[in-house]
Amino acid sequence: MKNIVLFGPPGAGKGTQAEVLKDRYNLIHISTGVVFRFNIKNETELGVLAKKYIDAGDLVPDEVTINMLKDEVNKNPEANGFIFDGFPRTQSQAEALDAFLSEKDAKIDGMIALEVPEDMLVERLLERGKTSGRSDDTDESKIRNRFNEYNTKTAILKDFYEAKGNYYGVDGVGSIEEITTRLSEVFDTL
Ligand code: AMP
Repeated sequence: MKNIVLFGPPGAGKGTQAEVLKDRYNLIHISTGVVFRFNIKNETELGVLAKKYIDAGDLVPDEVTINMLKDEVNKNPEANGFIFDGFPRTQSQAEALDAFLSEKDAKIDGMIALEVPEDMLVERLLERGKTSGRSDDTDESKIRNRFNEYNTKTAILKDFYEAKGNYYGVDGVGSIEEITTRLSEVFDTL
């Protein structure tokens, strides 16, 4: 079993790369952002709750997010492993993920981070906002707030995985194919 956290700030390319890598390595891709947006679209209780946070560019509370993530993993008991995209985003999510996986005799094999300079990310997100239909991609102040959330709550997870000898940084600037190649080189060692 291979469990990978694909890490990086908003717009780094996690979702795009996870879609390619899940087929290459026969893994299940779980994007918490995608699951939230699905719930918002279908007006579920979870969607109604999450919407106000997502629209503001704030993180959804940990307890809600952690329970949702566990449900998504438990839906795939036969999986060969997972690519976690957009989760964990806080220290308590990372701790909950470790505890949850260890109950299943599993662990995170590596956190692979896509490293992209912040001004390039804002440009990418505004460009994506033209077609994604995501309200949190079209408003620069919401985008800035997402970076603020990332810098204050999420970026520290680098230290969390580095302390375990599990952190791998990858240059996230280049063509989609170039970046897939760089990521695959790390995947192959895990
Ligand atoms: P993403 O699609 O990963 O950019 O996520 C979009 C939004 O969903 C984020 O800005 C948060 O509001 C929410 N979200 C996604 N994943 C998480 C998470 N792990 N913890 C808290 N909020 C999340």
